[in-house]
Amino acid sequence: MKTGIIKKINCLDLKGQHQQIKKEIFEAFEKVYDNTAFSGGSFVEEFEKKYAAFCGTKYAVGLNNGTSALHLAMIALGIGEGDEVILPANTFVATAWGVSYTGAVPVFVDCTADTWQIDVSKIEQKITNKTKAIIGVHLYGQPFDIGGLAAIAKKHNLFFVEDAAQAQGAKYKGVNVGSFGEMACFSFYPGKNLGACGEAGGITTSNDAYFKHLQSLRNHGSLVRYYHDEIGYNYRMGGLEAASLNIKLKYLNGWNDRRKIIAKRYQAEIKNTKIKIQTQPEWADSIYHLFVATTEKRDEFIKYLNENNINPGLHYPIPCHLQKAYAHLEYKKGDCPNAEYLAEHCLSLPMYAELTDEEVNNVIDVINNY
Ligand SMILES: *Cc1c(COP(=O)(O)O)cnc(C)c1O
Repeated sequence: MKTGIIKKINCLDLKGQHQQIKKEIFEAFEKVYDNTAFSGGSFVEEFEKKYAAFCGTKYAVGLNNGTSALHLAMIALGIGEGDEVILPANTFVATAWGVSYTGAVPVFVDCTADTWQIDVSKIEQKITNKTKAIIGVHLYGQPFDIGGLAAIAKKHNLFFVEDAAQAQGAKYKGVNVGSFGEMACFSFYPGKNLGACGEAGGITTSNDAYFKHLQSLRNHGSLVRYYHDEIGYNYRMGGLEAASLNIKLKYLNGWNDRRKIIAKRYQAEIKNTKIKIQTQPEWADSIYHLFVATTEKRDEFIKYLNENNINPGLHYPIPCHLQKAYAHLEYKKGDCPNAEYLAEHCLSLPMYAELTDEEVNNVIDVINNY
């Protein structure tokens, strides 16, 4: 069926939002420029204060990207060679990179068949005497079962870290994510719900010791200039990125609300039984970073969508445990069946705040006519 769409509807389009706020962002860039506050500095500090307040934590530490956030969180917890860290097989692979960078081993757990989030009931069987931490991921912008995961972490005396890279502003039982774990890791990659004009990331925490250690780690292992107390990294956030984030943070709740309206429409109005969507527990207030669906004949469905000017995404075609990078861990097909099913059958429908009602109507009509 061909409807009268003129413009191709992509899974994500960053242009509309950036045109809307261009003037404001450029004015902020000018201030950074005039202050030559390019690395760290007052714009980063302003963002850290605002973002900590947004998440309800004592601190936020601005970093160069979300992968560095995961890396530093692992170092701050003392994780290293010989240790194991449990995390979901269904996530963007960077969740595991932070673990691997320290020499520790990521241990992958399957997702549930309906929420597609880490299956908390499968965590305990993976715990060994080497296990030090569990990383939960609020995948697609939807909080995972934080209560269930935190209870297991507590019972086994393990650290619990949130990977909230896709979930800026999502709420679990009415409380913003980012305030539940020892630390929470965020990415402000341009494509995330809160994305910098450039690469950026950060960690939120309410723990004074972690905060101090993270500040040192991101800055060459130094709190006092040219005194290096440990081997550190250059993982600082840039001033231009921070300035863009300060502007965008003001709009985040509004943009997230618009995504929720679009998601509610997809949930209510997509009636085609060949398409399954993510189940949302009643305690999960998702910000729909991605709107993921599954269908049996994915190639055929994607071809049909493309013919109708809709260009879906794929998040993610290979689960972490079957990535070549982790072949040495010797996982095999069948180890995480739900994550594997999802990888083979998932696709991401258009989802961003600037989608018009007409475009949403079109996506729904095209899918219902499949
Ligand atoms: C984007 C993302 C990361 C990595 O963030 P970068 O800023 O791209 O390094 C980590 N975890 C998840 C779940 C992500 O989506």
